[in-house]
Amino acid sequence: MKILKIDHLGIAVNSIDEGKTFWSDIMGLDFAGSETVTEQKVTTGFFPVGASEVELLESTAPDGPIAKYLGKKGPGIQHVAFQVENIEDALAELKAKGVLLIDEKPRIGAGGAKIAFLHPKATYGVLVELCERS
Ligand code: ZN
Repeated sequence: MKILKIDHLGIAVNSIDEGKTFWSDIMGLDFAGSETVTEQKVTTGFFPVGASEVELLESTAPDGPIAKYLGKKGPGIQHVAFQVENIEDALAELKAKGVLLIDEKPRIGAGGAKIAFLHPKATYGVLVELCERS
């Protein structure tokens, strides 16, 4: 498995607009747009930082994963995403090493990237996302 970089930090917010007031107005990051991923009941907002991004996550439904996260923990860093060269190879390698996976097969996330999550039980508490961008 080859990790290329930290792709983005996924940060759960009550609303993208609220998050913008800090990340854009105060921190000075450019807002690169938002996208709704219906299947995951989330709207994402992107703020590029060098080769990485801050990705704000706003829930679109009360039963979505981000709504559940906010209910339990409140706003904050929800996941860390690593860009890998080949996500299928990475998942196969991790599975062979006994790592508990949330997604055994990649699905399509924001920006058309192939993404998969590892279980936080296997990562000392960090929700790790792998992503592959073409
Ligand atoms: Zn993500």
